[in-house]
Amino acid sequence: MLDSKIPSGKLDDKWVDYKGHCKLVNPANKRKMEVIIVGTGLAGASAAAAMGELGYKVKAFCFQDSPRRAHSIAAQGGINAAKNYQNDGDSVFRLFYDTIKGGDYRAREANVHRLAEVSSNIIDQCVAQGVPFAREYGGLLSNRSFGGTQVQRTFYAAGQTGQQLLIGAYQALERQVALGNVTMHARHEMLDIVKIDGKAKGIIARNLITGELEKHFGHAVLICSGGYGNVYYLSTNAMGSNVTAAWKAHKQGAYFANPCFTQIHPTCIPVSGDHQSKLTLMSESLRNDGRIWVPKNIGETRKANEIPEADRDYFLERRYPAFGNLVPRDVASRAAKERCDAGFGVGTSKQAVYLDYAAAILRYGKIEVSKQGLSNVSADQIIALGKEVVKEKYGNLFEMYAKITGENPYEVPMRIYPAVHYTMGGLWVDYELQTTVPGLYALGEANFSDHGANRLGASALMQGLADGYFVAPYTVGNNLADEIYNAAIPTTHPAFEEAAKKVADRIASLKNINGKQSAESFHKRLGKIIWDKCGMARNKEGLTQAIKEVQALKKEFWSDLRIPGEINEYNPELDKANRVADFIELGELMCIDALTREESCGGHFREEYQTPEGEALRDDENFMFVSAWENKGEHEWQLHKEELKYDVIKPSQRNYK
Ligand SMILES: Cc1cc2nc3c(=O)[nH]c(=O)nc-3n(C[C@H](O)[C@H](O)[C@H](O)COP(=O)(O)OP(=O)(O)OC[C@H]3O[C@@H](n4cnc5c(N)ncnc54)[C@H](O)[C@@H]3O)c2cc1C
Repeated sequence: MLDSKIPSGKLDDKWVDYKGHCKLVNPANKRKMEVIIVGTGLAGASAAAAMGELGYKVKAFCFQDSPRRAHSIAAQGGINAAKNYQNDGDSVFRLFYDTIKGGDYRAREANVHRLAEVSSNIIDQCVAQGVPFAREYGGLLSNRSFGGTQVQRTFYAAGQTGQQLLIGAYQALERQVALGNVTMHARHEMLDIVKIDGKAKGIIARNLITGELEKHFGHAVLICSGGYGNVYYLSTNAMGSNVTAAWKAHKQGAYFANPCFTQIHPTCIPVSGDHQSKLTLMSESLRNDGRIWVPKNIGETRKANEIPEADRDYFLERRYPAFGNLVPRDVASRAAKERCDAGFGVGTSKQAVYLDYAAAILRYGKIEVSKQGLSNVSADQIIALGKEVVKEKYGNLFEMYAKITGENPYEVPMRIYPAVHYTMGGLWVDYELQTTVPGLYALGEANFSDHGANRLGASALMQGLADGYFVAPYTVGNNLADEIYNAAIPTTHPAFEEAAKKVADRIASLKNINGKQSAESFHKRLGKIIWDKCGMARNKEGLTQAIKEVQALKKEFWSDLRIPGEINEYNPELDKANRVADFIELGELMCIDALTREESCGGHFREEYQTPEGEALRDDENFMFVSAWENKGEHEWQLHKEELKYDVIKPSQRNYK
C-alpha cells in the first residue's frame, strides 16, 4: 500500500504542524549537503534559489542554454492566490475547494489545502523580487478570473506572467550562483538516476555541446523537469519539453501516477495543416471578456460579423449559465468539440469555434465614455475607446493571433479549438514531494500531485512556485537531516560507473540502428495515435488498438531509426531520438492507464461513461484512487492504488450550471 505520509490532525493545521515538527539541518551541516536539481523552470529555479539561500550546495541542470528559456516562460495568463484583494468572497478554503472540485475529486485534500495556504506567500515573494504584476490605477495589485471559479484571484503581468515570474526566480537563482551556493549546468540533459543502497544519490548527465557523459553526486535529487504534453507531438508546450527525466526516474523505481490525465485547453489557434509542429495557446484570460459561439445553423456561409445575434449559439452560456464562458477547461473543450462534431464548427476545417470580443469592446468603450465624462460620442468613437482598453489588457495576445492567422481580432472574432496543453499526471509523490525512490523528489508539472483529473487555469504557476519556494525546502530538509552522517560519495563508486555505461550503451544502440526514418517522423506518428485514441475522448476499443499500435511503433523505431551526425558532438537529432524513445514507452502506459480507469473524470473522458447531458460520469465507488504504476520491464507495469479520502469536501457530480 502506498504511504502518502499525510500528517494527522485537522486539515487546516497539517502544514503548520508539519513545519513546526519537521527535522532541521543546522547551517554547518547544510554546507556539506549536496542537492541536485534537474530543471530550472519555475519549480526548479525557485527550489534551487531557496535551497541555495538556506546554505545547501546545489547543482542545477537544464537542457536549454539558460534557465531563462524554460518552458515556464511561455505562461501567459496568470497565477492564482487566495488574497481576496477584490473582497469578492475568496479565501484559502475557497481556493482549496475550487481546485479539488475543478480536478473532479481526484486530488489529495491535504496537498491541495497546503497549496491554497501558501498561495498568498508566493505573491508576496514575487512582489518583493520586483515581479511587475498588473496594478489598478490606485497602485493595488489587479486580479482577473480564470475558469472554474466565481471570484477574481488571478494575478498577472499582461500576457507574460510566466516570463516575469521566471525572471524573478532566475534572479534569485543567479544571486545564489554568484554566492557560490548554486552551480548551474546549462545545456546538460539528465539521462539517468544513480541509486546506491536503494536511495537516489546522483545523476548521469550528458553535455549537449560535447556529447560527454558526466557523473554528479547528490544527497538528494529533485526532478523539476516539467510536463509531457509533447507526447502528442502537437501541443502548446515548448518544443523541447519532454518526459525523459521523469521517465528515467520511473524506470529506476519511481511510480508514475495518473499518466492518462492530460489537459486539453479550449482556446488555442486551430491546426492549419499537416506541416505543423507546434500549436499556439490563446490565454484563458481571454475567456474573461470574450464570448464563445458557433452559428445556430449547420452549413452557415455568412461571415462571422454578418451573422445576427438570433442566429448565434453562445453554447457555454447556454449550457452553463452559472459559469458561462468561464467553465473549467475540460468542460469548455468538450463542449467545443461537441459542437464541431455536430457540424456547427467554423472556418475551412470546420474544427473551430468563435471567440468574440465585439461585446467586450462595446462594454469597455461605454465605461470609458462615462469615466471620461464625454458626451455626443459616436458609435465609432465608443468602439475606438473600447479597443484601447482591450489592447491594454490583452494587446500582446491579440498581436500574436494577428501575426499567426493574418486576421485582426479587434475586427473579426478569433477562431479557436482545443489543444493539448498540460499534464496532470506525473511522478507519484507523497506529501513531502518524495517519489517512491527515497531521496528522489518531483516538483512542479513533473509530479502528479495537486490538480486531480483537471487543472484549473493559473494553478500550475502557483503549484510550481509553492513546491519550489515553500514546500521542498522544509520537506527535503526533513529527510536530509538523516543524511548528515553520510559523506559525499565519490563518482568513482561502481554505481556511477555502471549507470554511465548503461547510458553510453543506450546512446550507442540508438545511433547504431542506422535505419531510414527520423526521430521526428516517429514522434509525429506517435502523436497521432495518442491524440486520436487517448485524446479528448477515449473508448475501450480505441485504447486497446492504440496499445498495439504503440508497441508496433516501438519495434519499428528500434529497427529503423536514423540519427545523422556523431555521438560526441552537438547533435540535436540524437537528443530528440533519446526523448522520442521515452515518449513511445510513456504513450503505451498512458493508454493502459486510460483503459484501466473505467469512468470519466476531468480531462479523462471515456465515451462509455457519460451522463445523459454528455458530462463526465465518475465512479467514486470503484475509482476514487490515484493510479500509481510501477515499471516491471518491457511493456509491463503493475498498478498500485492510493485511496483518496475526502474528510472535508463531499464529492458530488460537478455542476457549473
Ligand atoms: C503556452 C502555455 C501557457 C501557460 N500559461 C499558464 C498560466 O498562465 N498560468 C499557469 O498557472 N500555468 C500556465 N501554463 C502551465 C505552466 O506554464 C507550466 O505548467 C509550468 O510553467 C511548468 O513549470 P515547471 O518548472 O514544472 O517546468 P518547465 O518550465 O517546463 O521547466 C522544465 C525544466 O526542466 C529542464 N529539463 C527537462 N528535462 C531535463 C533533463 N532531462 N535534464 C536536464 N534538465 C531538464 C528544462 O531544461 C527546464 O529547465 C501554461 C503552459 C503553456 C504551454
